[in-house]
Amino acid sequence: MARALKSPEQQSIVVRGARVHNLKNIDFEIPHNALTVVTGVSGSGKSSLAFDTVYAEGQRRYIESLSAYARQFLERIEKPDIDEAIGIAPAISIRQRNTTRTPRSTVGTSTEVNDYIRLLFARAGVTICRDCSTPVERDTVDQVADTVMSWPDGARIYVLFPIPRLETESEVADCLGNLKRRGFGKLLQDGNTYAYSRPDSLIDVDFNRPTYVLVDRLRVDAEIRQRLIDSIEICFHENEGEVVIQIADPAEGEGLYRFNERFECKKCGIRYEDPEPRLFSFNNPYGACARCQGFGNTIDLDMNLVIPDRGKSLAQGAVEPWSKPRYRRYLNELKKKSDARSVPLDVPYRNLNPDQLSFVDEHIRAFFRYLEAKKYKLHVRVFLSRYRGYTVCPECGGSRLRQEARDIFIDGKNIAEISRMSTAEAAQFFEDVKLTPLQSEIAARVLSEIRTRLKFLNDVGLQYLTLDRLSSTLSGGEAQRIQLATSLGSSLVGALYVLDEPSIGLHPRDGARLIEILGRLRQLGNTVLLVEHDAEMICSADWILDLGPGAGEHGGQVVFEGSLEDLLRTTSSLTGKYLNGELKVPIPRQRRKPGKQRLILRGASKHNLRNLDIDIPLGIMTCVTGVSGSGKSTLVHNCLYEAVRAYLQGTEPESGSGQVETNPKWLNDVVLVDQSPIGRTPRSNPVTYMKAFDQVRDLFASTREAQAAGYSAGSFSFNIPGGRCETCQGDGTVTVEMQFLADVELICEECKGMRYKSGVLNVLYRGKNIYNVLGLTVREALSFFSSVGRVTKKLTMLEEVGLGYLRLGQAATTLSGGEAQRIKLASYLARETSNKTLFIFDEPTTGLHFDDINKLLAAFQRLIRAGATVLIIEHNLDVVKSADWIIDLGPEGGDGGGRVVAIGTPEEIVRKRRSITGRYLKPVLARSE
Ligand code: ADP
Ligand code: ADP
Ligand code: ZN
Ligand code: ZN
Repeated sequence: MARALKSPEQQSIVVRGARVHNLKNIDFEIPHNALTVVTGVSGSGKSSLAFDTVYAEGQRRYIESLSAYARQFLERIEKPDIDEAIGIAPAISIRQRNTTRTPRSTVGTSTEVNDYIRLLFARAGVTICRDCSTPVERDTVDQVADTVMSWPDGARIYVLFPIPRLETESEVADCLGNLKRRGFGKLLQDGNTYAYSRPDSLIDVDFNRPTYVLVDRLRVDAEIRQRLIDSIEICFHENEGEVVIQIADPAEGEGLYRFNERFECKKCGIRYEDPEPRLFSFNNPYGACARCQGFGNTIDLDMNLVIPDRGKSLAQGAVEPWSKPRYRRYLNELKKKSDARSVPLDVPYRNLNPDQLSFVDEHIRAFFRYLEAKKYKLHVRVFLSRYRGYTVCPECGGSRLRQEARDIFIDGKNIAEISRMSTAEAAQFFEDVKLTPLQSEIAARVLSEIRTRLKFLNDVGLQYLTLDRLSSTLSGGEAQRIQLATSLGSSLVGALYVLDEPSIGLHPRDGARLIEILGRLRQLGNTVLLVEHDAEMICSADWILDLGPGAGEHGGQVVFEGSLEDLLRTTSSLTGKYLNGELKVPIPRQRRKPGKQRLILRGASKHNLRNLDIDIPLGIMTCVTGVSGSGKSTLVHNCLYEAVRAYLQGTEPESGSGQVETNPKWLNDVVLVDQSPIGRTPRSNPVTYMKAFDQVRDLFASTREAQAAGYSAGSFSFNIPGGRCETCQGDGTVTVEMQFLADVELICEECKGMRYKSGVLNVLYRGKNIYNVLGLTVREALSFFSSVGRVTKKLTMLEEVGLGYLRLGQAATTLSGGEAQRIKLASYLARETSNKTLFIFDEPTTGLHFDDINKLLAAFQRLIRAGATVLIIEHNLDVVKSADWIIDLGPEGGDGGGRVVAIGTPEEIVRKRRSITGRYLKPVLARSE
């Protein structure tokens, strides 16, 4: 609920006169210890306010308080264009970019959960012998003494250590001489003692049989403890930590007892490693599996490549390399031997029995060993490389840890087994974990750290991720929520957190928990600032800043500032109107019905998918829905996209992605329109991506000034030397690496950010130079170039997808994922034909306000009218309700998902009781009627 601000000056961050990017000299405040949402149509200035003003100023002040080294750059770090900022706290920004660079980072390591689990195993882990399954323990001197003292009073005992078996006279003489020098004078064999001060007495000793040095002779009673301890210590010292104690009168006990100070299995003699944190780390050479160096996989023969189709028989060429003429004789050889071993040649490979399989396998491996020996030939190397893939490391089974680390257990599980758990399973395990009182005592703190961290991961909706999941494979939304969970774990107070659409990638069902966790960040004493469009998130904010009214030049003003209650009442805010129902995204009056044309994907089984057969109608708009982790990306990116590509190219699809069945007349292209950047350098930008810059450069080259100076179209390129500034190579900025801090972008000192040499900048086209033109927004450019159809034809598509506010030259590196995706969409709209193309989108509403969604939906309709199929992964219910067809996956995430829960029109989905999406869609459909 909204809280009244008593005294804004002290309780808020107050910014006056903000003019960053499109911000129109605005004043605003952000209450401390509160949750503030900045919203507004895309391009209205939300990021400019949250990240480029508030966060940037927070970071600048932080650098100011740092070392002289950092401060020397301060002057060149762009100061946000503001008059004044009061009450700015050290700022932490959590954005959606997945910045993981190390291939070893996992969910467990990046959240510090692994660090605490390692600590737990080091302190409380129990080593179990890998051969006989008995716990491995070290016998300390005290433990041995305790055991002996527990024997009946009066029992006579010998404290001994063994001597090695001796074969020759001279060996015996050497050994005895040595023992004598060390002060030992008596031996024991078969209960008889021999003093070797009298050589003749040794005649009866058989040095081929177990023989012991007698260190002490005692009778058990309370008095002897100290003497016993001294004797045991002598044995440990003289004999590598081993002592033997014999009860002199076997009637009193079983005779011979061995104790061992070494960490090894008493029965099997296998040595084990002491549990210590580094043993459990695959990032440490000590703990990492030596075979794969802690990566969990090795480059090896990949049987899936050798036998790509297990439905084929041997005669049909199941073993792919043997279907090549050069190596066909190996198949013939196998055939001859197969007769004898009765391996059928005409039975699908997958139906062979284990004996037959191992027989064939043996031959395949022998064949590859033979080739390995011929590797000096280039064609053999090329041939081999075709059958090589990453395979799970045979040594560690993918756990990345050496055997000794995997021999240590907590309540029956080793650390590798725990790493394979999802965060939900791990949370349950550590909740119920059974520990001995001693273990509990030493592990209590560590255990509670583990539990809270796992709880945070569950609370941010990532319960389906396994701890060993590679960070590099996470989506932007998942990566952001991991950072959020980690921040909570670190319990920072008094900071300012700035987040970028944390609801992205989250099913409406999990939204409530995210809101709760952001609330907790606030309760810890932090200020939370979100850029958000999600209705639930906006409604849970303490304070709302609505920017607008339009985008770019038409935005940059504070349309509304205050509590939710006031927002709902105001008439000036577009956001308010959508929230109070005055405006809405309409339901299409008529839905397209699936026709005869369809695509069937059979046998999709990657990750958690349960061997799905999916029927996708062509020529309409289909949404793939389901809670996070249910398998939407896996189905659409990893399976469908791969399988359709293989189908269109006539190649074999990757194993697990499934097979496509359709009529080739219905489908001729597939395009994945994802959120990856449109370019990785500041030199890529909207106008170059739309291929409209060539025409712009021609216009400049054709001016009289350019021709007089001898400039060609190339002189106006910032991709090639000539006209561009060489100091920054046309970027306009240079990047400086900062110790301990994120890299800092500085404006190029040579060209002052103008990207070109001054001569080129003197060339004007209708009063603007090339730098000025790159600074135009798309909308401005449309009117500036209105007489040049070649330019406007392409740029107008950017306007159509709601990107009219972008500047032509805005660096690709500063575009959000959603913007990049919509630029790609625009470039497809500008194509001559999209007929029979399957377009795939992943959460295209990222960064979109309610008001932008209408534009996006209209763009989809245009694609479909042009003969395309549109398939969308989406959580946004305004888009879902507008779909012609829905494929709902679930019911849950991870192992609990991977099935089709419901399929049909939105109206039909709402009626399926098992569909979680249906439950949330219902009120939205009802409201929009
Ligand atoms: P929102 O976050 O609301 O979508 P932005 O703050 O990203 O909006 O953008 C507001 C305006 O500022 C837009 O016109 C955009 O083109 C412009 N803009 C954003 N980033 C930059 C930048 N790095 N340089 C120049 N203009 C920018
Ligand atoms: P959604 O897109 O519905 O959120 P995903 O397809 O991303 O779901 O995930 C489905 C399941 O597959 C989850 O259990 C997820 O952890 C797992 N998964 C997804 N990508 C990978 C990957 N690259 N490696 C291993 N497991 C993965
Ligand atoms: Zn390994
Ligand atoms: Zn420069």
